Amino acid sequence: MSIHLPLMAMVAHIVISGLSTITSTLILLLLATLMGTIVSFSAVWWLIRPLRRLSASIEHYRNEGVLPPTDIASRDEIGIVSRAISSLVTDMDDMVRKLRFDANTDVLTGLANRRLMLSRGPQELAKAAENHDPLTLLVFDLDHFKTINDTFGHETGDKVLMMVAHTVRSSLRPADLAARIGGEEFCVLLPNTTAQQAHAIAERLRTSIETLTIEPMPKGRITASFGLAQSQGKKPLFQDVMVRADTALYSAKEHGRNCIMISEM
Ligand code: GH3
Ligand code: MG
Ligand code: MG
Repeated sequence: MSIHLPLMAMVAHIVISGLSTITSTLILLLLATLMGTIVSFSAVWWLIRPLRRLSASIEHYRNEGVLPPTDIASRDEIGIVSRAISSLVTDMDDMVRKLRFDANTDVLTGLANRRLMLSRGPQELAKAAENHDPLTLLVFDLDHFKTINDTFGHETGDKVLMMVAHTVRSSLRPADLAARIGGEEFCVLLPNTTAQQAHAIAERLRTSIETLTIEPMPKGRITASFGLAQSQGKKPLFQDVMVRADTALYSAKEHGRNCIMISEM
């Protein structure tokens, strides 16, 4: 464009006005070159539009962690490459999501795992302390679970764990985080909840677990012991709250199991 447009303009000029002065020819040549260059740059700018949009989408994905829709319609090579990269990034995003989900989820129950609890717990605790909101940690452990495995088999034991997880999941609020943090030990993070309010939640859970029926076990065979600890202080440590809840749970076991103990503030 930038070469042929000036040449065509010069030929047209010579044909129309004959061989006029060299100055006017050069000026025309210069203007035509400029014009040709502008047209060429605009064409290149327009052609590589999909690449710019793609690059903006990748940047957005980097900053926000969300992939915006990239609708690349052009059918040329640049469009083909852009679509290929865009689909590669989408696949990579799917894989990252799946890996993140797997890394944070307990395979058997589908609840969060210890890892997620240990990363989300301190964040929620810091947020609650900053806003002067109460937060309570609830831990519970199934009673005599080893005997369930030994008497009814490991598969029945797994079924119990899944049913308990289902019970926990269906009785919590969206902001609560429930995790299986050990073999038959669960932990529930309750934001905006005092120890007294958490006690009511734990009592609901305790009775729901107690009434679970799983063949061939007799009714009332599945029970759990609970420990609660409300966070305290301006900069509470998650580990400290966890230890206090665990101590309360241990005390519930000591008190005959199938009961709830609250850690003193
Ligand atoms: P306590 O009332 O004192 O808590 O006694 P317990 O028998 O529940 O506790 P203990 O720690 O002696 O036994 C826990 C058992 O949980 C032992 C282990 O085989 C079993 N367990 C751990 N993970 C799983 C699992 O994923 N599936 C099944 N079925 N059993 C598991
Ligand atoms: Mg147990
Ligand atoms: Mg245990």
